[in-house]
Amino acid sequence: MKRLWYWRWRLLGREPEHCLGCGGPLARQAVAWCHASAGQIELSLQGLPFLVCGNGCTDRRQPRPGFAGELERALLDGGHLPMAHPTVPGGALSCYACASRVWRPGPDSGEVHGTLRLPSVPAIDLTVRGPVRTCNGCARLQLIPSDSVRRDLSAALAGALEAAGLRTTFR
Ligand SMILES: [Zn+2]
Ligand SMILES: [Zn+2]
Repeated sequence: MKRLWYWRWRLLGREPEHCLGCGGPLARQAVAWCHASAGQIELSLQGLPFLVCGNGCTDRRQPRPGFAGELERALLDGGHLPMAHPTVPGGALSCYACASRVWRPGPDSGEVHGTLRLPSVPAIDLTVRGPVRTCNGCARLQLIPSDSVRRDLSAALAGALEAAGLRTTFR
């Protein structure tokens, strides 16, 4: 029989304060490196934080409830990744850094870097390979925004969390 506190945590949709396996203390650690690809996007995360049982159980939990959702919002809408800005829907793109609308011939696919800063956890470094353009003004490589890039980023994040062995549901 499950203990009462288990059901209480579960009903409240919260992360447990102790290991569900043995009741031991949870310690914060970070995944050195995890990686996943989806569609046209390859995503690497460096320093993904998680909670793990101090007694050696292998369950890896998110550092707080809803953390995977925070990560996704920060990745897609946080402005932490170099990504060109659409000027009008369906229109020209402008450089995220210098607002130039002129692009120089360059690779169609490339790698950009960013850092996710979320409250009360160490920064998480990102590397994203995907469709890019090169600004003619400042030479910065940047992702080309689109619905499919958003979808692939989101799917790649889910894959990277899974690859890291991070549990994002309660049990
Ligand atoms: Zn444990
Ligand atoms: Zn620029």
